[in-house]
Amino acid sequence: MIDEIALLEAWRDTLALSALKAGEQVVVVTASDKPTRYKPVATLAARQLGAAVSDVEIADPNHLSASTLELLRAADLVIDLVFVHDPALHQVRAAAGTRVLLVLEPPEILVRLRPSEADKQRARDAEARLRRARTVRVSSAAGTDFSFAIGDYPVSSQYGYADEPGHWDHWPGTFVYTFANDDVGDGRVVIDRGDILFPFNQYAAEPITLEIADGWINSIAGGLHADMMRSHMASYGSRDVYALSHLGWGLSPNARWDMLGLHPAGAIEGQDGRAFAGNFLFSTGPNDIGGGTRSTPCHIDAPMRGCTVELDGVPVVIDGALVSGPALAAE
Ligand code: FE
Repeated sequence: MIDEIALLEAWRDTLALSALKAGEQVVVVTASDKPTRYKPVATLAARQLGAAVSDVEIADPNHLSASTLELLRAADLVIDLVFVHDPALHQVRAAAGTRVLLVLEPPEILVRLRPSEADKQRARDAEARLRRARTVRVSSAAGTDFSFAIGDYPVSSQYGYADEPGHWDHWPGTFVYTFANDDVGDGRVVIDRGDILFPFNQYAAEPITLEIADGWINSIAGGLHADMMRSHMASYGSRDVYALSHLGWGLSPNARWDMLGLHPAGAIEGQDGRAFAGNFLFSTGPNDIGGGTRSTPCHIDAPMRGCTVELDGVPVVIDGALVSGPALAAE
């Protein structure tokens, strides 16, 4: 049980890291059908930092009304307690420089994974390495041997706070990613026993073998979870679901692989799983958030343990452990 003072402090620290200053305008976004306990504490923390706080209750996270968009355009920082998916939000960020911080995880996870400047440093360092690279190879003792070319899509990261104009982030979790170039990516990805499958929010019970050629998944073999994956993906009736989405690795030393085992299904978003240090975060489907043309809603995130990730032959993760770089050594 997290005490309310620790939660308030975590909120205040994270909003301060998000560069919230006295006199700035904050809008807290909630939805009537999505319960959240954070509206009072977010409001109090922002007010303690001197911000002016409004709130808006939206009806549909996929379609914001014109009046809501007007409010968000006038904000310096939007605290999203819903997970707004309307692309218009991102147009507002780009045009008006509005910062957006998404917060959904339970208090224990927010406090344990409260962000720090070291997280951003680690993310920026990983971004720089990934941006210089042209090929990524992922391998594992479980049988993964998969390579893809990059460079045509932007490199991005999340580090848990929204400090720069127009920046979107999700508290908590630090990871880096990009997208494979169109129609590239060859080899085998073995999602091993214990690797995580979102949105099923389950650990794979036995290995799932994906054969990939020219950036497309051609076969999915294994046991029950392979059957679930095949069935789920086929239900969308679209070829795009078999493409690759964001690909990268986790950078949060205090995120925990085992967290799915400690919370009931549906009680967490899975940021621990997506961010635990040294995972390879494999995912399928859309690449529109990177500027690509695929926008299928079928999206599977599969954080994998025990992988080695090499950028142009230089490892950044070895057997699931981050290779120390300058930013890590500075901690
Ligand atoms: Fe994802």
